Amino acid sequence: MGSVHSYWEATAPKRRPLSQAHGSISCDVAVVGAGLTGLSAAYHLRQHHVEVAVFEGRSVGWGASGRTGAQVNTGFRPSFRTIEQRWGSEAAAEALSMSVNAVKLVSQLVTTLDMVCDFTPSGFIRAAVSPHALDVLRDEQRFMEDHGYRTEILHTEGLQEELRSPMYVGGLLETLPSQIHPLKFVQELARVCQETGVRLFENSPVVDLSKGFEASSPIVLRTPDATITADAVVLATNAYTTPFGSRAIRRITRSVLPVGSFIIVTNPLAELPTLIPHNRSVADTGTLTTHFRPLSDNRLLLGGRIGPSDSDSSMGQLLQEKLVRLFPSLGSVTVSYQWGGYVGVTRDFLPRLGRRDGIYYALGCNGHGVALGTYFGRYLAYRIVNPDAPQCWLERLGLPTMPSQRMGVQALSWYSKWSRNR
Ligand SMILES: Cc1cc2nc3c(=O)[nH]c(=O)nc-3n(C[C@H](O)[C@H](O)[C@H](O)COP(=O)(O)OP(=O)(O)OC[C@H]3O[C@@H](n4cnc5c(N)ncnc54)[C@H](O)[C@@H]3O)c2cc1C
Repeated sequence: MGSVHSYWEATAPKRRPLSQAHGSISCDVAVVGAGLTGLSAAYHLRQHHVEVAVFEGRSVGWGASGRTGAQVNTGFRPSFRTIEQRWGSEAAAEALSMSVNAVKLVSQLVTTLDMVCDFTPSGFIRAAVSPHALDVLRDEQRFMEDHGYRTEILHTEGLQEELRSPMYVGGLLETLPSQIHPLKFVQELARVCQETGVRLFENSPVVDLSKGFEASSPIVLRTPDATITADAVVLATNAYTTPFGSRAIRRITRSVLPVGSFIIVTNPLAELPTLIPHNRSVADTGTLTTHFRPLSDNRLLLGGRIGPSDSDSSMGQLLQEKLVRLFPSLGSVTVSYQWGGYVGVTRDFLPRLGRRDGIYYALGCNGHGVALGTYFGRYLAYRIVNPDAPQCWLERLGLPTMPSQRMGVQALSWYSKWSRNR
């Protein structure tokens, strides 16, 4: 992966680069992007005997999938209650069932395909930063319980048994979520794709895409050294999408704003098992969500700062200061790794999923795409094989664009400067 220098990169098996795309290639479906979404789409398409080729501009997992915090959680950026209030009770019920199934899909893939990716069924705590935030979590729990998904509210004492931090007044515990080593997981997905007959190319950026006027005309994609003909395309480039080729791609690109998100990983900490005794992953309810999880070698991974770029060395210092406030008993801590990556943010903080001119897309998970991206890959495969099947609630939302990428970047710069003192 070269430039990321993440803990994941340092601890994943070294692998030889796959070959670049050359000459004329024809397939039923061309997948652009080899992150979790693209590889899950490719794997599930192959299960339906579809001829698939995947084109990755850099290397497998080079985007967000290989840089993520890798909490395999339920949920979207907006709460289920917010979805219910804005988009109706049916949408909210579908959202809950979709996200629970997404978390289960990751564990099914890991188990049934013998994936070696440090999968840990750790559970997850949403930690409340104030009594009001805990009330909001209580309401969210009522929604989940009413729809058959069991979770538990932790009051101050219960939370202290799970998380020894003075920052939180309570939380919501879910036992279903898990943690993975994301780069190993995405590399394992690539392995099973290849074993089942998917052609997979690295260092093969798609630079152009065109389609004839007839509805039945094939789609032609180009990389620097290859021309690809396909009946359909899966665009799985998420926050790393650039507006190459057709009008449809430009339209899809305008619906997502790439937002830099940052992570630090500490040295091994002997005290960590006493601070998070059950290894839960945690995300809090703060305006600037902080998320953290223990790693298998007793290091703590912590993330949550955002900015307009994915490389800002000052973010490491800010995250380290946050870590000291979270766990004062740790004293000073050495940070061994820090890195950033882009998350795809949308206008309503919900993912964009759909089809346009033969291009199937799923992007903009707003920082919740480990389980959802994997699920959306399978969903797109299903839609390609069953084009007349009913649309899910997210497809019906359409493709609202972000007001302006330039304004978005400016707003992010201001927000990032303002939030430095918080
Ligand atoms: C720092 C960070 C922390 C996160 N933490 C969490 C978390 O704890 N839990 C969670 O659920 N989600 C988290 N997320 C979000 C999650 O990682 C993403 O939603 C998910 O990985 C997106 O996967 P993807 O396959 O859709 O996109 P990506 O993994 O970004 O893959 C897109 C790929 O497309 C390739 N590409 C782009 N353009 C082209 C082109 N023209 N031709 C060929 N290839 C191209 C890129 O090189 C890239 O590899 C986090 C994200 C970041 C950045």
